Amino acid sequence: MNSTGHTCPGCGRDDLVQAVPAAYLAGRDSVTSRERNSDGDMRTVTRRVSTALSEALAPVPKEPTDGLGCLGVFTGFVAVVSFLVWVLAGKAFEEVPDGVYFGEPPSGPDPDLAFLGWVSGLALCATLLVVVVLIRRRGEFARLTRGRLRAEELWARGWYCHRCGTVHLRDVPHEDARPLSLQEFRERVWERGGYGDLAARQRATG
Ligand SMILES: [Zn+2]
Repeated sequence: MNSTGHTCPGCGRDDLVQAVPAAYLAGRDSVTSRERNSDGDMRTVTRRVSTALSEALAPVPKEPTDGLGCLGVFTGFVAVVSFLVWVLAGKAFEEVPDGVYFGEPPSGPDPDLAFLGWVSGLALCATLLVVVVLIRRRGEFARLTRGRLRAEELWARGWYCHRCGTVHLRDVPHEDARPLSLQEFRERVWERGGYGDLAARQRATG
């Protein structure tokens, strides 16, 4: 990592200080850094930065993804399959030529299969309900994070020290440059974006 000229207030050195956006993006890739080995020699090391750090530095919360989407896919599948079985089985009955029945020929689908119609209908309702909830939730999330540009403005002024594991802000009015833990940094950035209360629920664990 090239020296940024920005000294970390934690360790007083600048060799492992990186702009937060760069550290965030590097979490999806490998980075090359200059490190001192046990003999005291400098060497170039290429390694993968943990995505945990990248996630901890995220300027916006993660979009809620629980099992609801999977549930919707499952109920949709159940609706289609039960409907097809119901229709095809019913049709098969209708196509049996008259005369092969002993006694009364059944009219319409086998009543034993009627429950499949109910299953299909209920599964369809459940699927529609899931879709409606997902759409509403997506809209709420977009509303919640509409202040993300303000948050990213502050976020971009953060500097991460890979030695200390802390972030400090530079040239930000009303903010001192003391080292912040990843969680403290998240709280400041997310509060600026108007979604600070989520920082307590989605804690930064880099
Ligand atoms: Zn440091």
